[in-house]
Amino acid sequence: MKNNKPSKKPVILLNIDSLMPQALEIAVQTDQTPALKFLMENGMYFSNMVTSFPTMSVTIDSSLLTGTYPDQHRIPGLHWFDTRNLQFINYGTGLRETFRIGWRQSVHNMLYRLNHEHLGANITTIYEELGKKKLHSASINSFVYRGNKPQKLKTPKTLRAFTEFENGEWTAQVPPIFSLGTFSKIRQRGVPTQIAAGNYKYTAKELRYLIRKNKLPSFTFCIFQDMDARIHFKGPTDIKLIKKIDKEIQKILNMYPSWEKALEKNIWMVIGDNGHAATGTSYRKCIIDLRKIFKQFRIAQIQRRPKSKDQIAICVNQRMAYIYLLNQSVSIRKLIELLRKESRVDIIAWKNGENIHVVSGIKDGMITYRAGGLYTDIYNQNWSIEGQLDLLDLTLTNNQYLSYGDYPDALARLSGALHSHEGNFIIVNAKPGYEFKAQSTPFHLSGAAHGSLHRQESLVPLIIAGTKEKPPYRRFVDMKNYIIKLIDSN
Ligand SMILES: [Zn+2]
Repeated sequence: MKNNKPSKKPVILLNIDSLMPQALEIAVQTDQTPALKFLMENGMYFSNMVTSFPTMSVTIDSSLLTGTYPDQHRIPGLHWFDTRNLQFINYGTGLRETFRIGWRQSVHNMLYRLNHEHLGANITTIYEELGKKKLHSASINSFVYRGNKPQKLKTPKTLRAFTEFENGEWTAQVPPIFSLGTFSKIRQRGVPTQIAAGNYKYTAKELRYLIRKNKLPSFTFCIFQDMDARIHFKGPTDIKLIKKIDKEIQKILNMYPSWEKALEKNIWMVIGDNGHAATGTSYRKCIIDLRKIFKQFRIAQIQRRPKSKDQIAICVNQRMAYIYLLNQSVSIRKLIELLRKESRVDIIAWKNGENIHVVSGIKDGMITYRAGGLYTDIYNQNWSIEGQLDLLDLTLTNNQYLSYGDYPDALARLSGALHSHEGNFIIVNAKPGYEFKAQSTPFHLSGAAHGSLHRQESLVPLIIAGTKEKPPYRRFVDMKNYIIKLIDSN
């Protein structure tokens, strides 16, 4: 801990996965979550923070921690196809799919390759940026963790056979304080609930230890990973786990002489990661099987490298999918025509040189756009754009000023995903209420799912208490610089 000169007011960012504005507001207004209520009433509350796209945790956390969309951070989703190495990359999208692609590979992808091979080498994480300033940081329970301290991580003996690491050991670049399941613990005697993660209680204990021992660094990022699985199963209105996590936050605030004192000592932030769109009960109605839509083509099998005869590859991220053209025998026009015939399909996008084309399964017409040009959007990004603006629910006010409706920050987010990796591919989104399926993908009937560009999954809540400084824009990609500025100025 040599060079550590903690800032006067450490920033603690609590990420509650799948925390959604409506559920949070109901929980607070009905007095079921006193800690979150206190932070909200004594701080600022934003109900409409724009997350990343695809709306999947690994892509979102990478955007939050690097301040970039996937065109720079290079994590295109939980499931994508590496066209250079002809390999399906899966960070673990569900038991069946993980089983097909192999546990070993998924674990290896999630724990090692995501941070050390895939995450953009030309960009820095907030941990690396603070490290350059000789400021310490902590990551608790996050799969995206790249920092500048090499640390040997060890797989427990019984599980070594399940990893691709020699002797179950590997050297990772981590933040100075790092907690991730059994691989790295802050409290040496702590017993994580899962191999690569802890539940909300474990996570809160790791954070409380830092506070108790007076070891809070300038910035702490702490993820509660528990809600997502429950919301997938129970639907977006369930608040049982918010109440439980709130109890843990109460215990954290109780460590100070008063909750007001906790705000004097630290800056507290609570943020969601993605929303969910509710799904119905009928498999036939709700699940769009992409293999059926593309039945005339040879589709690559996810458990092996594509064969030369394979024509397309499909990577589903719940309510969005990447469709890859593997050889010249397939025309992009044909694939798009087939997708547009499906009435449950929403936004479809692909790129052609500098241009991005957007069509929809719901509306006629097309949008063509590219970065740079006469139109300025509400985030001060410039675009050239022509076509049917209502396709993306864009509003053009006077003076060529663009604002967004159902698809927040759509132009930058679609562009981010289309430039996230190499290859000739199409992005397709499902309408709210529907979900994609391909080979062995998990699906979520009578519950909820996410992944798409729609506002239901794209707008999440943020509470900030302990500072009056507001983030410049309500977007995840603006959080990194905002937090660094806060730390620099206090
Ligand atoms: Zn999820």
